[in-house]
Amino acid sequence: MEPFADYLDKLAKVAVQVGLGLKAGQEVVITAPIEAVPLARKIAEYAYRAGSPLVTVLYDDDAATLLRFQHAPESAFEHAPKWLFEGMAAAFRSGAARLHIAGSDPNLLRGQNPERVARANRARSMAYRPVLELITSFEVNWTIVAYPHPAWAQTVFPNLEQQQAVQKLWDAIIKASRLDTPDPVATWQAHNRQLSERVAYLNHKRYSALHFKGPGTDLLVGLADDHVWAGGAGQAKNGAVCNPNIPTEEVFTAPHKDRVEGYVRSTKPLSYQGSLLEDIEVRFEKGRVVEAKAKTGADVLHKVLQTDEGARSLGEVALVPHSSPIAQTGILFYNTLFDENAASHIALGQAYSECIRGGSQLSPEELAAKGANSSLIHIDWMIGSSQIDVDGISPSGQAEPLMRGGEWV
Ligand code: ZN
Ligand code: ZN
Repeated sequence: MEPFADYLDKLAKVAVQVGLGLKAGQEVVITAPIEAVPLARKIAEYAYRAGSPLVTVLYDDDAATLLRFQHAPESAFEHAPKWLFEGMAAAFRSGAARLHIAGSDPNLLRGQNPERVARANRARSMAYRPVLELITSFEVNWTIVAYPHPAWAQTVFPNLEQQQAVQKLWDAIIKASRLDTPDPVATWQAHNRQLSERVAYLNHKRYSALHFKGPGTDLLVGLADDHVWAGGAGQAKNGAVCNPNIPTEEVFTAPHKDRVEGYVRSTKPLSYQGSLLEDIEVRFEKGRVVEAKAKTGADVLHKVLQTDEGARSLGEVALVPHSSPIAQTGILFYNTLFDENAASHIALGQAYSECIRGGSQLSPEELAAKGANSSLIHIDWMIGSSQIDVDGISPSGQAEPLMRGGEWV
């Protein structure tokens, strides 16, 4: 019997039934690290049992990626598989659902030339744009789940043997993803109801800004005109109700790209495409980052900020209580899917059009006029902790306490 058979089964079932909300007759495109074969296969099984006619799995190989940085010619890093992403976009346009299995080696590209890494990332982001647009506008149902890649497990638990580290990371993924219950699908339905109540409250309040205050942080995040809060399950344009992230604990909306002022310090390290960024400190003026430093990965951060015009402005602000099961594990996952759901966060770059009322019907110019940011990047980093207070600022300028010491008031 496959080790972790029970874990694989629970995760695959929730991925298909809750994460994708897969409709009968829908194709599925899965992207996954090669190490995640057991999970990809289990997901394929559940997808076929739910009536999918075709599941296509595209595997990624960390070792092959590293060989490119070691041996490819200098001009290689302008290249990206545009043809592949155009094909994926075509699949989604014709109705396929999208599932990504996260969990590669967070330190894969540590030690590689950051300028090359940045060029490769930029080329990839540009080629990926057609896919990203379909996903951020919820043309189709999509979800991301995680698999305990051995190199990831050993980054999280550096003092354990590989086998033990994988075991512990599996346990943490299951607990953090609310799968440690007799009926995880029912648990997720209840969790989604709670998130949607929070969303309804914030949408009713119509705050014009959020104020974050704590050690190293005094940040006023203006919210976009006609912003909409979202979180938990959402309905894609094809009618499917999906949970884009397993786990998810956040409620989030679109900041106004020109109305962010003050300074902010990250509260957890950020693992970004093979590099680790620690103790990020940035200052905003009129919505743009005007100063940025980091104790580790400052060069990567500066390159990221130069990606394009929108890379210096915010595309997301999200609230997560410090008591979320992920924060409760006390583990730094070195993976945004988990770490962003352990703490309130902001994201540099692209905004979600679902976070603007009627946003999916608006042109890029109309979205920008409401304050929604646009960029090739979308990078979440954590600014919440048990020491952070958050106020909602009403349209008349009144401050109302939303979070104290990292918890909902
Ligand atoms: Zn988020
Ligand atoms: Zn985000």
